[in-house]
Amino acid sequence: MTERLPGFSTLAVHAGAQPDPTTGARITPIYQTASYVFNDADHAASLFGLQSFGNIYTRLTNPTTAVLEERVAALEGGTAAVAAASGHAAQFLIFHTLMQPGDEFIASRRLYGGSINQFNHAFKNFGWNVVWADTDDIASFERAISPKTKAVFVESIANPGGTVTDLEAIAAIARKANAPLIVDNTLASPYLVKPIDHGADIVVHSATKFLGGHGNSLGGIVVDAGTFDWSRDNRYPMLSEPRPEYHGIKLQETFGNFAFAIAVRVLGLRDLGPAISPFNSFMILTGIETLALRMQKHCDNAKALAEWLAAHPAVSWVNYAGLPGDKYHVLARKYAPKGAGAVFTFGLKGGYDAGIKLVSGVRLFSHLANVGDTRSLIIHPASTTHSQLTDEQKAAAGAGVDVVRLSVGIEDKEDLIADLDQALST
Ligand SMILES: *Cc1c(COP(=O)(O)O)cnc(C)c1O
Repeated sequence: MTERLPGFSTLAVHAGAQPDPTTGARITPIYQTASYVFNDADHAASLFGLQSFGNIYTRLTNPTTAVLEERVAALEGGTAAVAAASGHAAQFLIFHTLMQPGDEFIASRRLYGGSINQFNHAFKNFGWNVVWADTDDIASFERAISPKTKAVFVESIANPGGTVTDLEAIAAIARKANAPLIVDNTLASPYLVKPIDHGADIVVHSATKFLGGHGNSLGGIVVDAGTFDWSRDNRYPMLSEPRPEYHGIKLQETFGNFAFAIAVRVLGLRDLGPAISPFNSFMILTGIETLALRMQKHCDNAKALAEWLAAHPAVSWVNYAGLPGDKYHVLARKYAPKGAGAVFTFGLKGGYDAGIKLVSGVRLFSHLANVGDTRSLIIHPASTTHSQLTDEQKAAAGAGVDVVRLSVGIEDKEDLIADLDQALST
């Protein structure tokens, strides 16, 4: 008899965890400690030399965080994962591992506004140069390839419009560039989209959003798919060259299909330091237990609201990939068959002023800059998250002046509709 592979909801509750070996505690405890006692001097030396795995200091590893890492790796189908203090910290750790000064990476223009800023400004200071492309024009990714291309970055379901990316087409281009495909799977979560099944080499999350799900903790996570060969042509020296501080070992050679995750931890977390707090790991783990239930309710509510808005006289358009006839509906059916997510945009006939009026008039929706909370959230990107972009960049990122973005929560949909109705009619 072959052993049954556990399903998604079972993994979401159990993967990586077992009753605490010392106390029997059924829930993974919060190991709120900075450091760990060595068994003896040899043990200490072998931990520092990467000859054995174990805890040294919470900047590198922590038992609560380790459960979170194993659980997300299991849900995404990766070989290993590394948690970080935030989604942006996770992105920073990824690029620090891949890029040398003067290198380039190709990124979709349809991204979280914070990622656009990180790539345009902070990363430029390290000499890591973004080349923008458009997921609506797959050939633009191909045109952007150069010998310096070290990575390709897209969101699976993309901010702020909830557009769906053709991951397999982008993965084929990343392979041509001999570069890993990094997929930010924050808006979809692995319940809706499994990027590794479609060619992603690295998956990144802002765990602050749907994974944690309750808007109470920042966190980020990097998942190593174990699919990329880092040794070819010495393009990724952090992974392929001998590490003097670790007895000259080559990470790719020693750690094989989880070498990238090791590099992110033992070079990135070690030297850059954006470790997640064990308390936040605990909160995010608790959130992940209900991921499947929440995501389904988020999607069902989002679809109901999108349908209602599409019929409203004050609304000029609704972009929700879950609606038949939407530009991204076919891609959504392929990549996110259980639902097109809970974040989408719509346009108000009254433009900028109508957007401001709506976000000021809602009572149940919260006007704030976040997504992926149990609570329903609303924002007018042009006056907030995307206000630092030029009008042209705003439009390219799907954040024109008339655009309103919703992150639909798990409340009763009738109450959400009633709230939007009163705010649109005042
Ligand atoms: C929020 C977000 C991020 C950044 O994550 P933080 O946890 O806020 O640092 C990155 N990508 C997407 C898609 C996000 O929504």
